[in-house]
Amino acid sequence: MHLKSIGTGLTIWYTTLLTLTFFILGSIAYGLLAYSLSRDIDSALKGVAEVMVQRTRTGDAAPVPGDVDELFRRFFGFSPLDRYVDLFDPRGRRDPRLPHTYGNDLYISPEALENASQGLHTIETMTTTGVYPVRVLTIPVIEAGRVASLVRVGMSLENMVKTRRRFLLIMASVFPFGLLFAGGGGWLLARRALRPVDHMTRTARRISAEHIDERLPVTGNGDELDRLAKTLNDMLDRLDDAFYQMRQFSADASHELQTPLTILKGEIEVALRSHRSPEEYKDVLKSGLEEIDRINHLVEGLLLLARADAGVMRMDIQPVDLKMLIRDVCNQMMVIADEHSIALHSGPMESVVVDGDREHLRRTLLNLVDNAIKYTPAGGRVTLTLSADDRWASLSVTDTGIGFPADERQLIFDRFHRATDTRSRDAGGVGLGLSIVRSIAKAHGGRIEAESPPGHGSTFTLFLPVSAST
Ligand code: ADP
Repeated sequence: MHLKSIGTGLTIWYTTLLTLTFFILGSIAYGLLAYSLSRDIDSALKGVAEVMVQRTRTGDAAPVPGDVDELFRRFFGFSPLDRYVDLFDPRGRRDPRLPHTYGNDLYISPEALENASQGLHTIETMTTTGVYPVRVLTIPVIEAGRVASLVRVGMSLENMVKTRRRFLLIMASVFPFGLLFAGGGGWLLARRALRPVDHMTRTARRISAEHIDERLPVTGNGDELDRLAKTLNDMLDRLDDAFYQMRQFSADASHELQTPLTILKGEIEVALRSHRSPEEYKDVLKSGLEEIDRINHLVEGLLLLARADAGVMRMDIQPVDLKMLIRDVCNQMMVIADEHSIALHSGPMESVVVDGDREHLRRTLLNLVDNAIKYTPAGGRVTLTLSADDRWASLSVTDTGIGFPADERQLIFDRFHRATDTRSRDAGGVGLGLSIVRSIAKAHGGRIEAESPPGHGSTFTLFLPVSAST
């Protein structure tokens, strides 16, 4: 038996509670039994004594033994062997009218004598005669206003003592069996109820990153353990997804890093194969620098995403005027837009201030405008607009480009996801831009949404909470 198991703990608790209950109930039952036994005896003794008092008054105080038996039988339902009837004068001397005692000869206690002199009854348990105590009732017989004699009626408590002992004996012999039975039953029940937990533990032990597709058994009966198994399975599903994404991400990241490195290595190897002119070396170095820039850009993006995931993105929060930011970005991207023969301009704009990191917001906007230029054929247009309500500033970048399929609407924000793969790679994209935009939006308490009505280019809208101080 595993000492630390819940089953054992439950059984110990259960057995302890049962023992306590047994003792409390047993004590109450024993107390009630003792009380009712002695009350019955007392009231029967009183009945006998009252008849004796009556007889004494009528001068018929000397009953024959058969009479006494009859008297006791009337009040007790049986005639006890060890019973006692006696008559005393007020000073405590045996009354000659009752020449012999019936049963044990009992002395009269000073308290009984004292009480009787005041006309009071005394009921007492005397232990001086025989093995068992005797219950004795002393009643004074009052005649003409004074105590004429004392009637004493008594009975051995043998039956009562024996009954009480029998009760205790029965309790003591039943208790260990009851305890054994209830404890054993409780343990079996607890084991049975907790068996699925063992099963779950064994299965859970087998589940690891390599075997994450295994699931805990669900019986379908809807009990607590079943619900726990379902919850854990849901959690495993999410972990499974996360592991898959992590693996995919590592594979994609390695692939994206490998491409420029392979190009770099190839170019250097070719350059070293024969003697080159300084111009040719310069070209190789220039091309190498471009690949290094690409690697640098990728690593920077990965680092930013990793920081955002870990919730430790560096943010220098200050009021940022979005209108100014859009103007800056437009000026910066104008040359590139011209190179691609694309008209870049800003539409109507309100002045809106948000609390944010200027550099991160600039990067976000540059990414969106860069994408818009990348995915818009020559002769197209890219328009930036800004509007706001009480809570949200919305900044949109709309292009007249190739757009993206509706079912890619969410996927394009995933890392390394490219809807238009060849085009993106040709344009120098690695598929991290929109993931970074989404992370930055999230870090600012905002969000990004994308729309692409078929044949009408696409619109990316960044929602940011408006600064509370405006
Ligand atoms: P990439 O480096 O490939 O541009 P992004 O994360 O910036 O990576 O974009 C992911 C994908 O979303 C792109 O490959 C492209 O398919 C799609 N996309 C992004 N911007 C646009 C746009 N303005 N028009 C059409 N498709 C876009």
